[in-house]
Amino acid sequence: MVKAVVGANWGDEGKGKITDTLADQADVVIRFQGGANAGHTIVNSYGKFALHTVPSGVFHQRIMNIIGNGVALNIPILMKELAGIEERGVPAPQLMISDRCQVVMPYHILFDACEEERLAGKSFGSTQSGIAPFYSDKYAKVGWQVSELFMDDSEIREKIDRVCVQKDILLTQLYHRDPIDREALLETIHEYRDRIAPYVGDVSAYLGKAIAEGKTILLEGQLGTLKDPDHGIYPMVTSSSTLAAFGAIGAGIPPYEIKQIIAVNKAYSSAVGAGEFVSEIFGEEADELRRRGGDGGEYGATTGRPRRMGWYDCVASRYGCRLQGATDVAFTVLDVLGYLDVIPVCVAYEIDGVQTKDFPVTSLLKKAKPVYVNLPGWKCDIRGIRKYEDLPENCRNYIEFIEAEIGCPITIISNGPEHHDIIYR
Ligand code: GDP
Repeated sequence: MVKAVVGANWGDEGKGKITDTLADQADVVIRFQGGANAGHTIVNSYGKFALHTVPSGVFHQRIMNIIGNGVALNIPILMKELAGIEERGVPAPQLMISDRCQVVMPYHILFDACEEERLAGKSFGSTQSGIAPFYSDKYAKVGWQVSELFMDDSEIREKIDRVCVQKDILLTQLYHRDPIDREALLETIHEYRDRIAPYVGDVSAYLGKAIAEGKTILLEGQLGTLKDPDHGIYPMVTSSSTLAAFGAIGAGIPPYEIKQIIAVNKAYSSAVGAGEFVSEIFGEEADELRRRGGDGGEYGATTGRPRRMGWYDCVASRYGCRLQGATDVAFTVLDVLGYLDVIPVCVAYEIDGVQTKDFPVTSLLKKAKPVYVNLPGWKCDIRGIRKYEDLPENCRNYIEFIEAEIGCPITIISNGPEHHDIIYR
């Protein structure tokens, strides 16, 4: 059975924690899109880990962890992360990298930095991990598929020359930098090839067999619906689809095999980078939520940037769950809200004097104002509770109110960052 764990919001919903918890019953965990530009935080018996590239199943030795073809593979970061977890006592995980996955090259990261510098204040708030230049190249058919790292040197040199003609013009003319050192690039390609060689495989064939054998496979999404390049807050989006549907493409499996789609929703909102965020809050109210949020505050796992904070947004989340095709919602960080007397929940947007519950395109979103309902808080610590019935009444009311608004069953509740802080409903 294939299950997807994906984000319904702006990312950082706690997908890593949910995947790590569901991995107890899984045989395979796959990353199917995105790159090292966002991180998952996982807290378990080995400690606290910020993972950017490796799948969240790496703490379970039984599990095959897969980097699917849809991922932007940053090989030095992958290797550093693997070494980092092993250094901290985690036994070496099983890992497979798709031979059809494409590789982030050093010049992708350079282009990202150059473009952010050129745009200055008007930038997209990129993490400068090379993601947009990487995906641009992939679709312009000048990317480097893992399989191509294993070509003869003559073929690699030919491709380097073809790619560099264009890149060098941009580098020298637009960004006033040196052209690409082609010999150094060849060496990098050799180094990358040698480092990943033991892990490369035909992922789609492996998964086809695993599905036939009835194995449990988890597709692990990065970021969330609102960062999807088609359905998100374009252009403040990421460069690969964040939707569960893309899991079929980014892993190489039939779409009808994805039987369960768990859309992870945060019990409040947070976002990183620029872009529309209707229920955003500011000042002391935001600082307090940021300080108390997540596990040790809401700061980016990759960049350490303070996250933008807001109240739960039913309009964005209902849309987020619908586009994911959610069969279930995992509702996370609920314990964080225990300090509030009242908890505002955004239930509609007002655009040009008209209220709507439908999430609009970005040009209208810019004009949207949040319409709030205030729900009573529960004013206690709910960590350690294991049964839904044992949650305070106001807490259950908060969950059930949101469930009715988003129209999707909340079947998993996360009431703490640790592996066992979970309530199944
Ligand atoms: P992801 O990218 O979706 O995996 O999310 P992040 O890891 O970036 O952000 C989630 C943060 O919340 C991490 O610091 C987690 O350890 C933490 N976290 C996840 N679930 C819970 C929860 O239920 N309660 C609390 N307090 N923190 C949580």
